[in-house]
Amino acid sequence: MNKYLFPIYAIVIGVLIALLTKSQKSIHTKLLLSFSGAFLLALTLFDLLPEVYDHLDAKSTGFFIMCGILLQIVLEFFSKGAEHGHVHIHKENLDFPWLLFISLCIHSFLEGFPIHQHNTMIYGVFIHKIPIAALLTSYLLKSKCKKVQIISFIFIFAVMTPLGTFISNTVSLDQKVLVSINALVIGIFLHISTTILFEASEGHKFNLSKLVAICLGVLIAYFI
Ligand SMILES: [Zn+2]
Ligand SMILES: [Zn+2]
Repeated sequence: MNKYLFPIYAIVIGVLIALLTKSQKSIHTKLLLSFSGAFLLALTLFDLLPEVYDHLDAKSTGFFIMCGILLQIVLEFFSKGAEHGHVHIHKENLDFPWLLFISLCIHSFLEGFPIHQHNTMIYGVFIHKIPIAALLTSYLLKSKCKKVQIISFIFIFAVMTPLGTFISNTVSLDQKVLVSINALVIGIFLHISTTILFEASEGHKFNLSKLVAICLGVLIAYFI
């Protein structure tokens, strides 16, 4: 059951952080973001990548990973980087942010696929979603969206990952198809986690707390 509930807990925690801190980018959210990027990247390399190479030939694996990276690049044209931690649509817009919503939903739906009971990706996705949910919530609260729109946005965004997990675990898809989708998700994870790590070093200035957060992320993923 945890495999369905963890992504939802992450959203709940993220929303609570946003409601409690009220600032769009507190230092804690930034550190959590750096930690989550390193943790997700490490888990992808330690857990998900070897699993895919076991079932798919090397060239196709590489091909689907590249497709995932490209897909995430395209999604970020629309989400403006919300998947890796910053939401900045400047227009004072009364409309519902449809492009942001749809691209986040596609991203979240796909990242549910590699989650099975036996692997550790569930923790990676869990940690990755907390700062994203926090930043998204504080953005939506500052926007001029109606309360009901904000709640529906967050609710649908929250159920997309469990939906992806549910489909990958119950619908009888061909093993090859499932593994190919997992390779696609590896590409997505590689892109967002490396972007988080890249953006974490603003102006390439040395930041000890961020470096510690990143090393911790890698270490915990290694021993988990
Ligand atoms: Zn960015
Ligand atoms: Zn994600």
